[in-house]
Amino acid sequence: MKKVYIETFGCQMNVSDSERVASTLAEKGYKLTDNEKTADIIVINTCSVREKAEQKLYTQIGRIRKGRSEKPVIGVMGCVAQLEGETLFNKINGVDFVLGTRAVGRIHTAIEKVMAEGSGHTDLGEREPDYDWSVSDAQRHSPYVAFVPIIEGCNKFCTYCIVPFARGREVSLSGSEIIRQVLELRRQGVKEIHLIGQNVNSYKPKTDSGLEDFKGSTYFSRLLRAVAATGIERIKFTTSFPRDFHPDIVDAMDENENLCNWVHLPVQSGSNKVLKDMRRLHTIERYFERIDKIKASGRDIALTTDIIVGFPGETDKDFRDTVKMAEYCEFDSAYIFKYSPRPGTPAYEMDDDVPAEVKTERFRELERVQKSIQTRHLQRYLNKTLKVLAEKVSAKSDEDISGHSTCHKVVNFRGSNVILGNIVDVRITEIKANSLYGEVCS
Ligand code: SF4
Repeated sequence: MKKVYIETFGCQMNVSDSERVASTLAEKGYKLTDNEKTADIIVINTCSVREKAEQKLYTQIGRIRKGRSEKPVIGVMGCVAQLEGETLFNKINGVDFVLGTRAVGRIHTAIEKVMAEGSGHTDLGEREPDYDWSVSDAQRHSPYVAFVPIIEGCNKFCTYCIVPFARGREVSLSGSEIIRQVLELRRQGVKEIHLIGQNVNSYKPKTDSGLEDFKGSTYFSRLLRAVAATGIERIKFTTSFPRDFHPDIVDAMDENENLCNWVHLPVQSGSNKVLKDMRRLHTIERYFERIDKIKASGRDIALTTDIIVGFPGETDKDFRDTVKMAEYCEFDSAYIFKYSPRPGTPAYEMDDDVPAEVKTERFRELERVQKSIQTRHLQRYLNKTLKVLAEKVSAKSDEDISGHSTCHKVVNFRGSNVILGNIVDVRITEIKANSLYGEVCS
């Protein structure tokens, strides 16, 4: 039995792809292992959003080769594989096969080809029409939490982003397939599902009669209601695209308690000029409308976001607008990035004119502002009782259990592993920088 080790970088979509690759390989008779050193086959699922992805891959493969007398079969999948294709064979010594983002269902064929014919196999083809989107119970990252992709790809083409080139155009799964998967996960004992997609709320399945349009609602909010009706205990969704964040999504959350009170809505900048240059397709006024609707909900919905500082042409005034925006929105947390150009994107051709030290200053200032907002804002959870899914024994203490609240906060509390998989009431006793601490209510 050949042993396979899979290393995954990047977003939930990559984690989900790796889980499905693991399921396929287990079904085909391979053994999945956590030990890279004894694996016969190593698959690296790459991400190109971070800087120097290729360089990191090069270093990693070099390290694998150096540490072994007999080289394992090495396959590269994910965004770097899709973007670079067979050029990876020339650029990085030791790569045996390259599998594009939509070719992952044929991982076993790629391995068989390399075993039979030697290295050099590339597959950047499309998904099989009957591609199986489910993940076997044994290959999920958690027995209690499951990712359910509902849409892949992206049509938005933000100028700084490589994803539409790596992941192709948006394709949504059929509602019936999604509901089938959720019901099956519920039967298996999964408590929380995450509906995922690069722009999850742009969900729009193809129907026999073409692309329908629902008045006053969206396909996504209708899907949310249908998934809520399956009775699965908790439903989260990410990532939302601001332009497509229809008010009915908040209405659906208000109506269904199992739709969790957390929205991740990447804003990227508080300046309309920068948003236009980024081609984000929303203005800051439209973004605030969405925030106002979310804040008006009775659910106390936690808001998180992504922000880029130092985008080409960002002036001090543009940056001030971003700071004001963060103060207005009061995010529970924000992922702040310093802009760096990605080859192959339209922004790569722009003049990267914000000096590195200015980017760092802006990053630090925004981080300081956000931290102080966050510290103040998170106090609202103190002495409140949150429903927490007990997911695992804490990495920091054997006596603590770690899980997530419905508002997607990491919550640690004293407890033993007998409660794993249960949703428990935890009274919050301490607010930490990136997590909450509490005690189980009797
Ligand atoms: S919406 Fe913009 S940032 Fe998000 S994946 Fe698409 S192009 Fe990238």
